[in-house]
Amino acid sequence: MIPALMPTYAPGDVVFEKGEGVYLYDVDGKRYLDFAAGIAVSSLGHCHPHLVAALHAQVDKLWHLSNMYRIPTQERLAQRLVDASFADSVFFTNSGAEAVECGLKMIRKYHDDAGNPEKYRVIACRNAFHGRTLATIAAGGQEKHLQGFAPAMDGFDHVAFGNLNELRAAITPQTAAILVEPVQGEGGLRAADPEYLKRLRSVADEFGLLLMFDEVQCGMGRTGKLFAHEWADIRPDIVATAKGIGGGFPLGACLATEKAAVLGVGNHGTTYGGNPLATTVGNAVLDVILEDGFLGHVVEVGGALKAGLDDLARRFPQVFVESRGQGLMLGLKCAPGVENRDLKKTLEDAGLLVAPAGENVLRFLPPLIIEQAHVEEALGILAAVAARQAS
Ligand SMILES: *Cc1c(COP(=O)(O)O)cnc(C)c1O
Repeated sequence: MIPALMPTYAPGDVVFEKGEGVYLYDVDGKRYLDFAAGIAVSSLGHCHPHLVAALHAQVDKLWHLSNMYRIPTQERLAQRLVDASFADSVFFTNSGAEAVECGLKMIRKYHDDAGNPEKYRVIACRNAFHGRTLATIAAGGQEKHLQGFAPAMDGFDHVAFGNLNELRAAITPQTAAILVEPVQGEGGLRAADPEYLKRLRSVADEFGLLLMFDEVQCGMGRTGKLFAHEWADIRPDIVATAKGIGGGFPLGACLATEKAAVLGVGNHGTTYGGNPLATTVGNAVLDVILEDGFLGHVVEVGGALKAGLDDLARRFPQVFVESRGQGLMLGLKCAPGVENRDLKKTLEDAGLLVAPAGENVLRFLPPLIIEQAHVEEALGILAAVAARQAS
C-alpha cells in the first residue's frame, strides 16, 4: 500500500526535533554535526538568533501580500542584491527550479524581442542539475531525471563541463544562451576553472548569446564570494540563486542585467515569490553574509576543511579517491567498492551529517558559520569511520 506521503524520497529512521547552530538533535536527544545543512540551505545554521528575531517580528505584522501590491521588504532585498552584485534587477521565486525557469524564459524573450525567435536553444553541461520541473530536467539533461517523463522539453544541447572546444562546436544559428553551474553540486562537486568561466563570457559575446549561471547551490556566499562567478571576475547576464538565500525559508531569485531583464508586466508572475515573510528572512540573511569579514571567514574555514579532506584522501586511499570543490562546497570522491550512500549512513550513525552527490561523491555543505573546531570535529569523525572502513 502506498504511504500517505508520496515516496519520492527514502529517508532513514532518524527524526530530528530541533536545530541549534551547526548541530541537529534527534528525538532521543542525540546530537549531530550538520555538514549537509539541508543541502546548502541552512547557510547560517539552525535557528540563527538574527533570523529568528527578524521572522518573529514579521510574523506578528504581516505574512503575505500578492505581488499586485508593493512589498517593501522585497524592494529592499532586490536593491541590496543589485548593490552587491553584477545585477540590475531581480525577480523573486520560492525555489531554485523556479529561479532557473525564470532565467530560461528571459533568454527566449530576449531573442524574441530582438526579432530572432529562432534563437531559443540553450547549451548546458552534461552532469548538470537545474531542478525537477519539466524545463529544468530537460536543461539538466540527466537520463535518470528524464526517464519516464518523455517527451523532454525541446531546446537544450549538452556539452562536457569545462570543455570550451565542444561548446564552441555546439553553437548554431538557433543558440540563444549558455547555462552553467560555476560549481556543479548534484553532479559531483566540480568547480569550474575561472579561466573557463572567463572564456564562456568571451564566447557568449562573440556569438551574441546570453550567459546564465545557475548559482542555486554555489551562490550566496557558499564559495567565499557572494556569487561563485565573481572568482572569475566576469559579469554574467543572468544568475539564478536560491537555497542559502532564505537560510531555511523557501526563497529563490533570478538576477539579471538590464539588458537581459526583459520581463515586464504580464510576462511572468508568482503568487508567493518574494512575500513579506520570505524577503524579511532574505534581508536578515544578507545582513549577516555582507558583514565585514564574513566571506573571508568562509574562505578561511573552507580552506582548512579542504586541506583536511585532502589529507584524508592521502591517508585512506582505499576509501577516498580525491577531494573536490570550493569554499564550503566540498566533496570527497569515494573509492570503487565504497558506496557514498552507505558511507553517508555510517557517518550519520557516528554523528556527522553529509549529503551524497553524483560520481560517488560525499558532499560537505556545512553552515557558513562553522568554526575551526567544527572542522576538526568533522575530520575526526571522518578519519575514525575511514579507518574502520579501511581495516
Ligand atoms: C537545488 C538546485 C536546484 C533546484 O532547486 P529547488 O529549490 O530544489 O527547485 C537548481 N539548481 C541547482 C544548481 C541546485 O543545486
